[in-house]
Order: sequence, then C-alpha cells, then structure tokens
Amino acid sequence: MQGTAYFDGEFIDLREAKVSVRSHAFNYGISVFEGIRGYWVEAAGEVRIFRLEDHLRRMVSSAKLLQMNDFQDVEWLTQTCCDLIRRGDFRENVYLRPILYKDAPDGLGVRLDRAPDAFLAYLFPQGDYVPADRPLRVGVGSWRRLDDNAIPARGKIGGAYVNAALAKTEAVQRGYDECVMLTQAGTVAEGSTENIFLVDQSGKLVTPTTTDDILVGITRDTVMHLARQELDLEVEERVVDRSELYRASEVFLCGTGAEIAAAGEIDERQVGTGKIGPVTQRLRELYAEAVRGQLAGYEEWNTRVTLP
Ligand code: PMP
Repeated sequence: MQGTAYFDGEFIDLREAKVSVRSHAFNYGISVFEGIRGYWVEAAGEVRIFRLEDHLRRMVSSAKLLQMNDFQDVEWLTQTCCDLIRRGDFRENVYLRPILYKDAPDGLGVRLDRAPDAFLAYLFPQGDYVPADRPLRVGVGSWRRLDDNAIPARGKIGGAYVNAALAKTEAVQRGYDECVMLTQAGTVAEGSTENIFLVDQSGKLVTPTTTDDILVGITRDTVMHLARQELDLEVEERVVDRSELYRASEVFLCGTGAEIAAAGEIDERQVGTGKIGPVTQRLRELYAEAVRGQLAGYEEWNTRVTLP
C-alpha cells in the first residue's frame, strides 16, 4: 500500500516501517492508537485534518491506561502529524494512524512498566470505509463488547480490536455490512468500530452512555453538537435496549472511518422506511461540511495543512 510513515524519528516510505517481532505491541497488543481523517480541499490546496488535537488527546489518555508515560506532548504529536501530512503530499483524502506502543523489553513478561514506549504514525489515501451511498444491513452480533474490567473500551487499545475483528468478520460472513455489539449486560454498546444513534418515535436522538463500554467517539461528540446546535434536536445519552433499535424511526452508525452511515435494516427488520432517514441525511450533510472546514462556526475543528 502506498503511504508515508514517521518511524524511529524519521519520515520514510510506509513499506520500510518495521516494528520488532519482540515488541509488546506485536506480542500482546499493548498499544494505543487513533484513526484520523484528513480531507483534501482542492480549492484551498490544503488537507484539513478533522479534530486532530481531540484525537491526540484521546490517544494520550488511552496511553495512561497502559502506563505509557513518554510521547505525551500533544503539541509535539500535532506537529509531527502535520509534518507527516506534508511529507506524504497526497492530494486526496487521507487516513492518519498514530500509534503509541510498548516496544521490546529485556527478557520475558507482560509487565507494562518493563517495556519502553515508542511512537509511530503513518498515512495513506483512503476513500469510503463502509458503503456511503446506501443504507447498511446490520445484525446484532454474538460477540459481546469488552467489559471495562477486562479491557477498558474507552481506551483505543490495540489488543481490544480482536473483539472488533471477531464481531465485524462474523457480521460480514453472515451477509451483513456491520454489526451492533451488546454489552456484557445485554444492552446496546456500539458497532464494531462505530458508535450508534437512533431516532426514537418522538424525534429524539438517543445514544448509549459513556459508561456502556463504548469508545467515546469523536464523531459521536460531533453528531451531538451538530444535532443540538444546528438541528435543535434533543439528544439523550442513556442505556439502550436492543429491541429499541427495531422500533426506531432511524438508526445510524458513526465514526471517523464510517463517517455517518444509515442502517436500513437490523436483524431482518426494516428501520423506518429502509432508506436514509431525514435526520440522518441532514447530519450527513452537516458533517460533510464540518470535516472540510466549510461549516461556519466550526472551523476550530480543522487543522489546515498546506501542501507544497
Ligand atoms: N467505537 C470503536 C470501537 C471504534 O473503533 C471507533 C473508531 N475510532 C469508534 C467507536 C468511533 O470513534 P471516532 O468517532 O472517534 O472515530
């Protein structure tokens, strides 16, 4: 895959960036990471990175869970990511993946406080992650979302993505586009790599709470802001039962990769009309403008990088 990396203090071709087989990131999944999108705005000659600092702050707080103490300077991380975008010089939409990880220690053992911290980031061109032009077929998966006392879901932890991989693979192999993952208690948590919202029959936007074993998504936060400020909608964070999804007038998944994707059916039950609903559609439009720095009042969400 074509791409550029920041690795071991240098900017190099993505194919040359190689982590030790002995690293704890590789052996045990001890890493934290982010998925960030940069949108190419041709008219300005700029890549506009969406909520870069918010992502990096979340990465640093995920790192704290794993007792990583180095590379915590958000300003330096921001600068390095911007430099990487400039070095990459991709004049199209890009995906940026910074990773803070535990490298190879002396000797054997899983202790977090024995392996040195390391940081890398890479960049590659990226279009849609899920189909953008049609509602998704979604199924409630059999794999439960990780519990906070097993691997905290609010940290974006490398090893935790075994859970997402099992869930997403099951969904696709069963003929769905995506899945809904339930908590250990059996209530709705999120998609494999997306948060979830429903529009209830009174028109209210409802989403699981930050203590429902979800990754507290930046797109989720963006959606809540846009819904309240721009659409004057009531937004409620609360425990959501699975059967509420079947009765909702709209359901959508949202995340940096998926952006805002409508669910047309869930477990063979049509959601609303089965088409992209009006609230979802309005949010998709606002989101598309906000991520590109084209929505008045939200420009502070965009980090602008001019390409040479
Ligand atoms: N949940 C999980 C498990 C994820 O991996 C992601 C993608 N980062 C999300 C939710 C959405 O988070 P965000 O909007 O910050 O990309």
